[in-house]
Amino acid sequence: MENQYRVLLYYKYVHIYDPQEFAAEHLELCNKIGLMGRIIVAKEGINGTVSGTIDQTDAYMKYMKEDTRFEDMIYKIDEADGHAFKKMKVRPRNELVTLRLEDDVNPLELTGKYLSPKEFYESMKAHDTVVIDARNDYEYDLGHFRGAIKPDINSFRELPDWIRNNKEMLEGKKILTYCTGGIRCEKFSGWLLKEGFEDVSQLHGGIVTYGKDPEVQGELWDGQCYVFDERIGVQVNQREHNVVGKDYYTGEPCERFVKCGNPDCNKHILSSEKNEHFYLRSCSHECRIHPSNRYVQEHGLSEEEVQLRLKKIEENKVTVE
Ligand SMILES: [Zn+2]
Repeated sequence: MENQYRVLLYYKYVHIYDPQEFAAEHLELCNKIGLMGRIIVAKEGINGTVSGTIDQTDAYMKYMKEDTRFEDMIYKIDEADGHAFKKMKVRPRNELVTLRLEDDVNPLELTGKYLSPKEFYESMKAHDTVVIDARNDYEYDLGHFRGAIKPDINSFRELPDWIRNNKEMLEGKKILTYCTGGIRCEKFSGWLLKEGFEDVSQLHGGIVTYGKDPEVQGELWDGQCYVFDERIGVQVNQREHNVVGKDYYTGEPCERFVKCGNPDCNKHILSSEKNEHFYLRSCSHECRIHPSNRYVQEHGLSEEEVQLRLKKIEENKVTVE
């Protein structure tokens, strides 16, 4: 039967005294319940995505509610046909979200104004507003709010530098930030305030909550929302679906992700099945000829075959690499 499973997405900034010990015990708990997923634990809190049956996810939420630290934690719940992960991992980390250590912000002390989906929707339409996507570039590429700015960065860590270099664009404007579930914006919006920007707001509950809101129904969102589990993309806009993802090689509309075959690169690229095969699932010539290219290994291509394929790619050079 369908929809017997659920995916829970949640976080809470709250002090956890010993993340190492907490993570070990928490893993035991999750295994006992039978959940699959990925949870990060730090002194500053918890951030997780887990999947399980309705009974299993209910048991988990009930257990967490009994702990005063997590009694008011908000869960974004998606129905699913099965597990969204293959394993259960609980990892202790130094931070839940990495800006830069020197700039670290405690969202419990400083964070942007929380806007409900409806308030965020209204604010987006105002003319003196700048909407900043606080996610990675490949997440933006699959889908984003119409008109949102995509910082030209490879990881969340580079965001502060990007803001400092693009100050003029933001000064005197009402700044709106958003991310998948809200956790990155808690810090990012706080950091913006600390940098001296005065009017900073964040989408409370993130894109995932926005897409479920019965009133806004995901309006002004284009494409899909990238998620860090096997689903990869989820729908947000319930009224229309505009594909904004573009095939990395040909620029055609595409919502299918692959990871570059070079294990040292791992770049997320949007690619049709056809182009994945043609371009050996790699983002560049250098990645194609990497000695441990996964595509080459998986398909058992000989050196000669690879050379032949490289020649074909060269002949067919319509790429946007
Ligand atoms: Zn690559």
